[in-house]
Amino acid sequence: MADDIHEVYAIRYGHHSRRSPANFIDGDPHDVLQPLDFFVWAIVGPSGVIIVDTGFDEAMGKKRQREMIKPVRDGVAALGIAAESVKDVIVSHLHYDHCGNYDVFPQARYHLQDREMAYATGRCMCHRALRAPFEVEDVVAMVRKVFTGRCAFHDGEDQIVTGVTVHHIGGHSKGLQSVRVKTRLGYVVLAADASHLYAHIDGGRVFPLVYNVGEVVEGYETLKKLASAPRHVIPGHDPLVLARYPAAKPGLEGWIVRLDTEPKQ
Ligand SMILES: [Zn+2]
Ligand SMILES: [Zn+2]
Repeated sequence: MADDIHEVYAIRYGHHSRRSPANFIDGDPHDVLQPLDFFVWAIVGPSGVIIVDTGFDEAMGKKRQREMIKPVRDGVAALGIAAESVKDVIVSHLHYDHCGNYDVFPQARYHLQDREMAYATGRCMCHRALRAPFEVEDVVAMVRKVFTGRCAFHDGEDQIVTGVTVHHIGGHSKGLQSVRVKTRLGYVVLAADASHLYAHIDGGRVFPLVYNVGEVVEGYETLKKLASAPRHVIPGHDPLVLARYPAAKPGLEGWIVRLDTEPKQ
C-alpha cells in the first residue's frame, strides 16, 4: 500500500423509516417511503485507522425514536479494528447521531471544526429550532475531552494524515466538515450530513434541518470538486450506499460496505 492510499468502509448502525416529504425542505410531491440509514465510517491506511463519527447508542435511539440495529463497537470489531486502539476520530458535526458512544474509543483524539464547537456551546443553542438535533450530554462530553487534551481543532481545510483531509462545508450545521480520502480509485469524499441522500446532492435539494441554505447548496459544488468523480461523494444517510457498494467481506452484507470500489449505478 502506498503511503497515502487508504481503504474506506461504511458501517451501518441505525435506521429510521420515514416518507419522502420529511427529507426535503419543500416537501416531496411523490410521498414515497424514503428511509434514512445511520452510518459511521472507517478509514484504514498506512498510518492506522481513523474513524469518522461515533453514532448513537441504544438509549439515544430509544429517546429519539430511531432504530439502533448494530452497536457501533460491533461494526468496528467486524472489520478487525480494536476500538480501544483507535487513535483518531473525525467528528463531522455534533448532532446526536454523529457524536455519541463517548467511551468506545478511549485512546482517540477527536477532530472537529472550531466553528462547530462554538456553535454548539454558544448563543444559537438558546433557540429550540437550532438546538433540536443536539444533545447537551453529547456536547458536554466533547467539552470534557477538550479539558483532557483529547480534541484537535481545525479551521476550514486541514490534513489529518497524508491523504486524509477535512473540509469545512457548514450549511446543515454551522461547523460541519466532510472528509476527503485518497484511495486506489482517487479521492473518495465522505460528505456526512453535507448531503444526507444522493437525492440531495444530485437534485440540489435541501434536508429540512438546516443552519444556512446557501452553504448547503454551495457545499454540493465543493463536495463534487473534492471527489475524483461525482459518484465518489458518499452521502451520510442513504440506504442506497449499501446497495451500490460490495460487502467489506463475506457475511457483512447489509451492514458494512467497502467504498473504495466502483459503485453499481
Ligand atoms: Zn446532522
Ligand atoms: Zn446525521
